[in-house]
Amino acid sequence: MSDDAEVTAPAYPTAETTEQFAENIRDVRQRIDAAARRAGRDPEDVRLLPVSKTVPEERLRLAIKAGATFLGENKVQEALRKSENLADIPDLRWAVIGHLQTNKAKFVARFASEFHALDRLKAAEALQRRLEIEDRTLDVYVQVNTSAEESKFGLDPDAVDGFVAQLPAFDRLNVVGFMTLAIFSSDEERVRSCFQTLRSLRDRVCDLAPGGLRPEKLSMGMSGDYEAAVEEGATTVRVGQAIFGSRSVPDSYYWPNPTDGTDA
Ligand SMILES: *Cc1c(COP(=O)(O)O)cnc(C)c1O
Repeated sequence: MSDDAEVTAPAYPTAETTEQFAENIRDVRQRIDAAARRAGRDPEDVRLLPVSKTVPEERLRLAIKAGATFLGENKVQEALRKSENLADIPDLRWAVIGHLQTNKAKFVARFASEFHALDRLKAAEALQRRLEIEDRTLDVYVQVNTSAEESKFGLDPDAVDGFVAQLPAFDRLNVVGFMTLAIFSSDEERVRSCFQTLRSLRDRVCDLAPGGLRPEKLSMGMSGDYEAAVEEGATTVRVGQAIFGSRSVPDSYYWPNPTDGTDA
């Protein structure tokens, strides 16, 4: 962490009622809209994806009542459990936004509408095979490591063209865009530069259209940095704590060091 050690996460109050959820969602939405307008963008081009990891199903029901209809989860098993326990809610959809171990692809193929962390062919192959079995398709974002931090999953920016060019072979995957996690830093310029890297990479890939693909969407920005992300072109922001409240589980549980993984 070294020079980023001074970063302390702000405390977000825990939403406990439908009204509090509605308020938090409204507040985040207004900030998104304002950021979009500052950048000369149409606020309607930015989607708010509430990230519900660690939040139990009872509280999710309140958030859903307050208007959340699409939820993001980092871990497949946690998402699967919640999708089953909330299966009575019509039209609720799920995005898996965390690293995928290939042996969990079968679950993602079953319940998820989106996957935001595609960063290797092995995962694409596993998803394709399982989606064929389920006779489904999946919207996917290619994850890029824009911060050059070892603790982040995602492709090296230089590897993206070659990777994307191979994706048309997987006809069950709709390659819709790119995803990144910015550096965790109080230096806003360094955070912004991660978002700018993703945007210019997207522009370049869409110009080249490798394999005929034009993945135009940008999934970037979380509770601490989503306004900057919107100013830099995000089309989806993934916001957890600012809606649900601070998490007690450390982020390292959700973002393990990829070099420690057994299935990287
Ligand atoms: C948890 C998580 C988020 C949301 O982070 P918050 O700080 O709760 O807004 C966004 N993206 C990914 C990949 C996550 O795991």
